[in-house]
Amino acid sequence: MRIGSMKRPERVAVIGVGILGSSVGWNLTRHGVKMVFIDAGQPGEGVTNWSFSWVNASNKTVRKSYFDLNVASMAAYQELGSIIGPVSWWHPRGHLRWADDPAAETKLLKTAELLADWDYRVEVRTGAEVRRLLEPALAVPDEVPVVFYPDEAWVHGRHLVSRLVSLSVAGAEHRFGAAVRDIGTRTDGAVRTVVLSDGSRLDVDMVVNAAGPSASHVAGLVGRHLPMRWEPGAVTRIDCAQVPVHRPMHAPHIEIRPDGNASVVLHSREIDALIDTGEDPAELARLLHESARRVVPDLGNSRITQTRISNRPIPADGFPSVGAVPSVPGYYEAVTHSGITLGPVIGRLLAAEILSGTSDEMLADFRPERFIP
Ligand SMILES: Cc1cc2nc3c(=O)[nH]c(=O)nc-3n(C[C@H](O)[C@H](O)[C@H](O)COP(=O)(O)OP(=O)(O)OC[C@H]3O[C@@H](n4cnc5c(N)ncnc54)[C@H](O)[C@@H]3O)c2cc1C
Repeated sequence: MRIGSMKRPERVAVIGVGILGSSVGWNLTRHGVKMVFIDAGQPGEGVTNWSFSWVNASNKTVRKSYFDLNVASMAAYQELGSIIGPVSWWHPRGHLRWADDPAAETKLLKTAELLADWDYRVEVRTGAEVRRLLEPALAVPDEVPVVFYPDEAWVHGRHLVSRLVSLSVAGAEHRFGAAVRDIGTRTDGAVRTVVLSDGSRLDVDMVVNAAGPSASHVAGLVGRHLPMRWEPGAVTRIDCAQVPVHRPMHAPHIEIRPDGNASVVLHSREIDALIDTGEDPAELARLLHESARRVVPDLGNSRITQTRISNRPIPADGFPSVGAVPSVPGYYEAVTHSGITLGPVIGRLLAAEILSGTSDEMLADFRPERFIP
């Protein structure tokens, strides 16, 4: 579908350098586009660094087109690894999930069946097999069914962003530690300048709003209303001398994944539900640690080091908002939850849209225009 001009951009500003902004920017610099990477803080230190960071499509069965987009991004990760080298950011060792009550277990197995019908690789193991073959440190009952998704992964978001930004260095300008305060437009409404909090003004002919949870505010700078949800999540890092797990897992009441050689990340939707009650983050971290120790007793020797509460960048209907906004020529959005999974495919498709003026069919259900009143 044609949605804009085919005029090649002179200079594009990416506003926000998390997984989304770095992926779009890296794809554009590969095609020789002059880029300015702008971040109010430092690259990769927003939600991208405070995510459970599980790359998957198994949790995306709510709409087939959304599932397909996530599957495409899992393939895009393989391609990205072959281009930029996997190094420390890519951990493709699958994902485990099990339940501790009959209703949740039935739902889990039904989803696994549906995914198998959609040609998604899934294996159902017993707890005893998982301990013997995959995760010896788990306190999972012998007979409980455990669903294993071998093609899923986790990503070290901050490392990946650093790599993409450093590989974009030719032809790219970096403005870190300065927030975009204003976006100037021409009389015809087209984007012309961005003004930063350090007072500088940059001439650009396109901007990509990749400001994560602040995307609604940035959209407001061009007079656009992008409705977003309030859905905060708490993530805790714990240090341990030896990391006792090898892959991300959704155990009952707790999600656990490795985070490098000496750290583990914990998250739980049940604990997230306490955030709006005003519970102290230190108490949330303690509860996460307690749940994790029940599943992996070796985590008893670990120490809580950092906890952060972040809002998920979720457009109001729960789906990504990606592409041009025709009423503001030169303004594009790359705003989504599950951005760790979706970063590579959105980066590739949005860069192609900016360069060709044509949007990919895969993004048809996720266009920004659906939020225009
Ligand atoms: C608890 C939790 C668990 C999650 N788990 C998963 C998961 O398992 N799998 C998955 O795929 N996704 C998960 N997500 C979602 C995923 O982390 C996000 O979708 C993704 O990280 C968003 O990346 P981003 O680049 O859009 O945002 P960010 O990483 O937040 O980057 C946005 C950047 O914009 C900058 N910025 C903001 N305003 C301005 C401004 N005015 N000017 C300049 N810069 C600005 C910020 O400083 C920031 O660096 C989770 C999220 C949370 C909160």
